[in-house]
Amino acid sequence: MFENLSERLSGVFDRLTKQGALSDEDVKTALREVRVALLEADVSLPVARDFVKAVQDKATGQAVTKSVTPGQQVVKIVHDALIDTLKGEGEPGALKIDSPPAPILMVGLQGGGKTTTTAKLAKRLKERDGKRVLMASLDVNRPAAMEQLAILGVQIGVDTLPIVKGETPVQIAKRAKTQAGLGGYDVYMLDTAGRLSIDEELMQQVKAVRDVANPRETLLVVDGLTGQDAVHTAENFDERIGITGVVLTRMDGDGRGGAALSMRAVTGKPIKFVGLGEKMDALETFEPERIAGRILG
Ligand code: GDP
Repeated sequence: MFENLSERLSGVFDRLTKQGALSDEDVKTALREVRVALLEADVSLPVARDFVKAVQDKATGQAVTKSVTPGQQVVKIVHDALIDTLKGEGEPGALKIDSPPAPILMVGLQGGGKTTTTAKLAKRLKERDGKRVLMASLDVNRPAAMEQLAILGVQIGVDTLPIVKGETPVQIAKRAKTQAGLGGYDVYMLDTAGRLSIDEELMQQVKAVRDVANPRETLLVVDGLTGQDAVHTAENFDERIGITGVVLTRMDGDGRGGAALSMRAVTGKPIKFVGLGEKMDALETFEPERIAGRILG
């Protein structure tokens, strides 16, 4: 479907005469291809443009190493620049959950994978980090969503806060906090309600919960296949609520990973995890190398 960028670049350079250093013209020709590849991978136009400009400055005049072709060399420069943009500070996937009980607020639109990711992350914290985790669903308008979290909790052996009918999300958050303290939990996760689109009521509700819980981490869960929409959602949530990181779901799909690059470039927030399937262990630490490889094809 997509022609491999490395092959494409080799083709471009085959037509150019070999020189001792990458000329302006070489680099420009190659970067036109890079720009197309980025756009095909669903990177937004301004991000692709800035990125290509940065690479152009870096590549022009670089001596061509004997062991590689100019095409391979540009690919390497692009690859390294992608990784620079994609990687966040600190350990990938690290969470600030040192002082127990540490609240993690899970936010996002409906259908993005929030509830599934809440359970996947709880399982990971329990199994990899030996944490005692309590999960609570705050989706009072959708009893099915609350039950879904309870079912997943049983499946992965993680406790969920018992459902009490008629409570508001803020009341549930307060009860989760109390319960987490009394029960000696290390972490409690608040799975907030989602909507099909961002609306004032959703934001007010999440804000009220945030103010009560004072979360150590606020993770936005977004569908990585939605490309630019995912980036807009992240910008919106970050402005209104303040997020500490992003989880990109459905990265097992055939998207080309461009959303990850735009996400980092536009919001500046780290992508902490990626969802790679529906199963409870299909959550992995975000690896910039893997996404860079996928974007380059
Ligand atoms: P929520 O409305 O945001 O809470 O979304 P859910 O957690 O209910 O997920 C919606 C659907 O997406 C479910 O069928 C999940 O199994 C599925 N899903 C969630 N994460 C992933 C993922 O990383 N990959 C795939 N293929 N499916 C996912």
